Amino acid sequence: MKTDKILITTAIDYTNDVIHIGHLYQKVLADFYARYYRNLLGKENVRFLTGTDEHGQNIERSAVEKGKTPEDFVGEIAGLDKKEQASLNISYDRFIRTTDEDHKKTATEFFERVYKAGYIYKARYNGLYCEGCEEYKTEKDLVDGKCANHPTKEIKKISEENYFFKLSSFQDFLKKYFSDNPTFVLPKVKFNEMLSFLKQGLLDIPISRPSLKWGIPVPIDNKQVIYVWFDALINYYTYAKPLGFWDENTKIIHFLGKDNARWHSLLWPSMLSAAGERLPNIVYVNSFLSLNGQKISKSLGNIIKASDLTEKFGTDTVRYYLLKYGPLLEDADITEEKIRDVHNSELANNLGNLVSRVSKLLEGEVIEKVSVKNIKQALKGINTLIKDFRPDLALQEIQIELSHQNKYIQDNKPWELEKDEKKKILQKSVGNILAISEILEPFIPETTEKIKKIFLGKTIKPASPLFPRL
Ligand SMILES: [Zn+2]
Repeated sequence: MKTDKILITTAIDYTNDVIHIGHLYQKVLADFYARYYRNLLGKENVRFLTGTDEHGQNIERSAVEKGKTPEDFVGEIAGLDKKEQASLNISYDRFIRTTDEDHKKTATEFFERVYKAGYIYKARYNGLYCEGCEEYKTEKDLVDGKCANHPTKEIKKISEENYFFKLSSFQDFLKKYFSDNPTFVLPKVKFNEMLSFLKQGLLDIPISRPSLKWGIPVPIDNKQVIYVWFDALINYYTYAKPLGFWDENTKIIHFLGKDNARWHSLLWPSMLSAAGERLPNIVYVNSFLSLNGQKISKSLGNIIKASDLTEKFGTDTVRYYLLKYGPLLEDADITEEKIRDVHNSELANNLGNLVSRVSKLLEGEVIEKVSVKNIKQALKGINTLIKDFRPDLALQEIQIELSHQNKYIQDNKPWELEKDEKKKILQKSVGNILAISEILEPFIPETTEKIKKIFLGKTIKPASPLFPRL
């Protein structure tokens, strides 16, 4: 398969409230990969999608509570979410909203297509529903009779006429897909978790809600709206299909949180298969971030906004911190103290000092040629770690390289050398800094842009600190 196009997506966030740093972790991770493919690997056909999930019962209710129409309410939240994404320099190509006209049209057509293919039928649903998750639940999903994500909420017993999706028909198909594509779900522990759900057996699920207005009408029955999850998953397709990024020549990578894993690993591929469309290549499931050991949540009142952190520490420090210490494989805890330590030791000391030292010693010089032969070899390993979805380990290796570079200056003492000899040493150093900077671009893009400006082009001036100590 020739994959010359790359599609990278994040989960779209539910607009009952503005997104917090936990949501932003995943945006930074996806942004890192979009930049990696675009800038480091030089791929021209990379598209990066993010956005908001705006329909459903919780949103209708939140809007009423605030005395607003759902339209105004979701518009405000989507605007705030965009600002939060901007604070971390997220370089998306489109911010899709499920209330966008093209999405409503596509979701309607998608539903019709699946219906015509025979995978949708009407029946009565008698069972459990968690309003917090907006999810149908079975007894097996509950912990002490409550939803694991919403232990303070009562589980509702509902009985209603719904349209059902024949998810059970895709059991064998999915089993084969999982066994043919051992990296379909990453990391491996999530793959195994999803496979074990699959082996327990899949049940048909309701994909419409009666008595709800805030949603996309079911095309074959205007008394119902399409269930919010069915609607939301289609957003990727809405964006990518008309651009030619939902074909066999595209590598499709979805990033999402562990609360969305089942929808993306089991329901979404079944929906696509029912509609006769190709499946994604990779579903990357990240874990959750906590704050000072506590779950980040509105009810606990400890919501931490990304923009509050970037104002305090700077965009690149927060990006760097999240990519190295975030919940890539398992839950991770964040404190301001930890961010400050990383800022001072890894960024101000190891990277910032190196750049300012070398630029000071080269004051008034022009760099004509840089040699990067040896360092490129060292950076190859880092590239492999990134490909294997280990940006955290890549940063560990980069820190080691930066220490080598600091030691090189320390050992050679260029300030004690004759002019030509001094320049030779420093020129090598600049080459290495620029090579490391290139591989750092997807992590800390503002900083690497500054580093290029310091050393390339005009006469070198001593640089002001890249990461002033905090
Ligand atoms: Zn719940």
